[in-house]
Amino acid sequence: TEYYLDNIRKKAHLNAYLEVYDTEALAKASEVDQKIKEGKAGKLAGMVIGIKDVLCHKNHGLQASSKILSGFISQFNGTAIQRIIDEDAIIIGRQNCDEFAMGSSNENSAFGPSLNEADTTRVPGGSSGGSAVAVQADLCLASLGSDTGGSVRQPAAFCGIYGLKPTYSRISRYGLIAYSSSFDTIGIISRSVEDAALLLEIMAGADNFDSTVSHKEVPAYSKSLGFEKKVKIGYLKESVESPGVHEDIRKKTQDILTSLEKEGHTVKPVEFSLLEYILPTYYILTTAEASSNLSRYDGVKYGYRSSEATDLQSLYKKTRSEAFGAEVKRRIMLGTFVLSAGYYDAYYTKAQKVRRLIKEQTEKILSDVDFLVIPTTPTTAFKIGEKTEDPISMYLADVFTVQANLSGIPAISVPAGNDSQGLPIGIQIMTKAFEESSLLAFSKYLT
Ligand code: GLN
Repeated sequence: TEYYLDNIRKKAHLNAYLEVYDTEALAKASEVDQKIKEGKAGKLAGMVIGIKDVLCHKNHGLQASSKILSGFISQFNGTAIQRIIDEDAIIIGRQNCDEFAMGSSNENSAFGPSLNEADTTRVPGGSSGGSAVAVQADLCLASLGSDTGGSVRQPAAFCGIYGLKPTYSRISRYGLIAYSSSFDTIGIISRSVEDAALLLEIMAGADNFDSTVSHKEVPAYSKSLGFEKKVKIGYLKESVESPGVHEDIRKKTQDILTSLEKEGHTVKPVEFSLLEYILPTYYILTTAEASSNLSRYDGVKYGYRSSEATDLQSLYKKTRSEAFGAEVKRRIMLGTFVLSAGYYDAYYTKAQKVRRLIKEQTEKILSDVDFLVIPTTPTTAFKIGEKTEDPISMYLADVFTVQANLSGIPAISVPAGNDSQGLPIGIQIMTKAFEESSLLAFSKYLT
């Protein structure tokens, strides 16, 4: 704990943490030391964990990197947080992210961007940018983030570490600030497959506080990381051929596929005809859900309240106008539009139908292959400011990650070396729902 606290101080310029719990973390560390001596320590004893600023941690500040939650203190522990605390993890602080987890670069934070340690003129990715930088720069052992469209995997790829998005409903969402509830998943950013497996094992499983959570039994992921069989691997032709994908990333993907084939696995291209509908469907449905989820921030119940208000309506208007950032406002407006009476069927209903098609086509592909192996992102980390004026180009950073969220399947980004400029490349592996055991074992085999 002292080691990480020291690193956090030395690398404060990376802006990875919004708040560090020095005294508390050290006190917990001594307590855990004592428990270890008595042979009573939990399964995560000694693991120093950072948490994205969207996870409820009792009696601690919580803001989703937004001005609108200024001064808000969480009243309870979310389920995932409670479970890691019960197993003696040491929570070291809360981490910077895009406001309400909306973004791909951490530039939408009210606290300024976190910086990629591989090149501090570049973004770490987002929205769990601070959480990825914290693991990359050795400011904690592992981080908990959230992944609605790629927010754990994309920053993990940009920072050269592991990012796991489990199956939707595998981990309870109780105590995770909602962005888009039918997509949101708590995820893990780590330096090893083993750490991800252990954390998943502790956090996953039934929970009375989330009616959507799966009641399926939780396997001992950390004990089944061996991988010996020969498998079938599918890849998207676009990901190794399209000029939209950075040359070094295409080459890296191709090299990995070639060596898998040499090792005796079956590797074949798969047809995914709905690729071009992925982003429109995702952005219609997530903005719709976000506009509803974020209606609760009205200046009455939580955090920030405008001091200029004269009546109830102006309180709502002024609070929201003053305290939400530009991207959050854009999404609330988009979501409100696609849900409005005149456009609901044309956009929202249609997008729901397309989501179903995407899910079915993805499942069909995965009934024929064991794993899909594609790049996590089309490019490596981009420059700070490069995409801020062009939201569409920012949204394109998610083209390979949102398929897993639309379909609810698990996916992981594994580090795959660097590009010619020394920037990390991530390779993504997807598999069938609830097959995290084989996903993790294959990831370990691959790296
Ligand atoms: N970048 C995507 C978005 O802005 C994904 C965000 C996320 O997964 N939370 O919606």
